[in-house]
Amino acid sequence: MTPDTHCHLELVSEASGIPIPEIISTAKKDEVCPLITVGIDIPSSRGAIAISSRFKEVFASAGIHPNGCSSCTEEHFHKLEEMCTSKNVVAVGETGLDYYRSASTKDEQERAFRRQISIAKKCKKTLIIHSREAHSKVLEILEEEDTTGIGVIMHCFSGDEDFLRECLLRDYFISFAGPITFKKSVDTRRLASLVPLESVLAETDAPFLSPEPFRGKTNFPQRVKLVAAELGRIYSLPPTRMSEILLQNTSRAFKISQVLEIDNG
Ligand SMILES: [Zn+2]
Repeated sequence: MTPDTHCHLELVSEASGIPIPEIISTAKKDEVCPLITVGIDIPSSRGAIAISSRFKEVFASAGIHPNGCSSCTEEHFHKLEEMCTSKNVVAVGETGLDYYRSASTKDEQERAFRRQISIAKKCKKTLIIHSREAHSKVLEILEEEDTTGIGVIMHCFSGDEDFLRECLLRDYFISFAGPITFKKSVDTRRLASLVPLESVLAETDAPFLSPEPFRGKTNFPQRVKLVAAELGRIYSLPPTRMSEILLQNTSRAFKISQVLEIDNG
């Protein structure tokens, strides 16, 4: 089994017209399990929890994306905190900073990020971080808010070597997505080779970021195997061994021991 640590099942269904149960069963037939389905706002976080309560191979992450936090009030954060007490929620996110797209101001993003870190700490859940062209500020805020004791995942890693080294010093997990398979991503592959095996994760971010040879098309969770295969080539490991490592890391990153039981059964 190969885990997909970051997908948006509702968005995959919307983009493809395929019902969610079929998306999950296709992934499972392709030996991709478990799936972490990630919320980007209150409704999609609620949706993620509903999916994970119906399917034992799916876990939920609840959060508000930095690009959609302009209208966030305390009421939103209270709702989010309430959701994060659910046993189906294994992480808070995706949260973080995005200075590439400017749908929300820097101040709005920062406030929403700090609030979500505090929720993750209170509920003892892992943080899924979206960082785009804001790496030093993301590191600064994570340090100031002190995330000791909770897991931190850098989702769809896109930083440089200095950023990577700081993340590794702090024991963050580094998650790679489809772009690692793109021809031009020579530097991403070089950086992946610097990540210790115990810190690496794989994801699709489906329906976005389809790996080669599906680049530009709607992405599906089963394509995490193409990301895992690329990581296997980077570490010179056979696909089965790479998947084992990814499964163990996923289990640790989200504190879900059931993951390995799913694999055995
Ligand atoms: Zn995402």
